[in-house]
Amino acid sequence: MPPVPPSTARVTELSVLDIRFPTSEQLDGSDAMNPEPDYSAAYVVLRTDTPEGLEGHALAFTIGRGNDVQAKAIEVLAPYVVGRSVEELCGDLGGLSRDLVHDSQLRWLGPEKGVMHMAVGAVVNAAWDLAARRAGKPLWRLLAEMSPEDLVDLVDFRYLSDALTRDEALGILRAAVPGRAERVARLLERGYPAYTTTPGWLGYSDEKLARLAREAVADGFTQIKLKVGGSVEDDVRRMRVAREAVGDGVRIAVDANQRWDVGPAVEWMRRLAPYAPYWIEEPTSPDDVLGHAAVRRGVAPVKVATGEHVANRVVFKQLLQAGAVDVVQIDAARVGGVNENIAILLLAAKSGVPVCPHAGGVGLCEMVQHLSMFDYVAVSGTTEDRVIEYVDHLHEHFTDPVRIVDGHYAAPTAPGFGTRMRDETLKEFRYPDGPVWAARGRA
Ligand SMILES: [Mg+2]
Repeated sequence: MPPVPPSTARVTELSVLDIRFPTSEQLDGSDAMNPEPDYSAAYVVLRTDTPEGLEGHALAFTIGRGNDVQAKAIEVLAPYVVGRSVEELCGDLGGLSRDLVHDSQLRWLGPEKGVMHMAVGAVVNAAWDLAARRAGKPLWRLLAEMSPEDLVDLVDFRYLSDALTRDEALGILRAAVPGRAERVARLLERGYPAYTTTPGWLGYSDEKLARLAREAVADGFTQIKLKVGGSVEDDVRRMRVAREAVGDGVRIAVDANQRWDVGPAVEWMRRLAPYAPYWIEEPTSPDDVLGHAAVRRGVAPVKVATGEHVANRVVFKQLLQAGAVDVVQIDAARVGGVNENIAILLLAAKSGVPVCPHAGGVGLCEMVQHLSMFDYVAVSGTTEDRVIEYVDHLHEHFTDPVRIVDGHYAAPTAPGFGTRMRDETLKEFRYPDGPVWAARGRA
């Protein structure tokens, strides 16, 4: 076949793969609400007929059986991208995002929350991966080089204007233009601060917790995180073990994964207070804005953090309006993709609340680092009190795995969004027929 001219190249296929990792066998990722997580990805590939065979890859992160439903939800969005011109698609990612979010028949299932919204996020993110590869740039850099005017065009301000108008967003982005180059240089030189959750999974022994906590400090981390919410006596003991291991100069965040009601959250945190927890993450339901505000009043000066299960920008808006959080935790694969996360970064910047992304999962570190780096260069302009979660699992499955150097995420330089898994992984871990699952007979 003759080569297809770039201007007429099209998206030829959207395929979805069900990829699962048997992480429950080692209790990696175990917490108070998820005792047996098999980290999974509903994995999207956009294929094109560009001469170089460009592809866009992304994923929605789930744990196990949820992947059946998630994969199906992504498949129904194929007509929005298949057959479209690559040039036009990559040139109007705000339009793609709006088209997908506003499909009235699918919107009925949310609106803008849950499985369908995560499916939208996966397709939008795959299109961003495609656009960044096409531009030959890592996503953070592609975004950070866009004009403030082009960036605000990516955002859907519907439901936000009482807290953030388009003009205010433009003002925030314009104010960050001076200094962009200096911050890019600083990122390339030093990276972006990270904290590690690796020591603190609920299923680990005290010995393993203490050893991993000491190793984290030796590796240059200045913050670690412990899962809590199983038994208060165990948590007090684990918190003491962790504090003794890391000393007073290291922040210890704790994460309850939505385990408590408001009253028990405050009581439990009083028991942990002697060991100076830095933040309590997901103390209660992610939908409970006023509950988070009450917890925050009850546990101060301990900070309240949430966001990995917050459904959309509207709930983030309310959390900020209600003074319910000290830390906003975006997730690259929870909301409607890059576009909605830009809206959330702008809301947080306007409120002066730091964004410390969630990244416990497969591929989440690889993706979300791009959003924090973009935020530093072009939105908030600072890394003060900002850290990206780091979890030391499953990075070997990616073609461009994250690199942690002295407690910092090294700025990615490879084109794309970092989401592409190795071909071998896509074969071996495919559920239920890949060799890893066939051998276990758990399908
Ligand atoms: Mg968490």
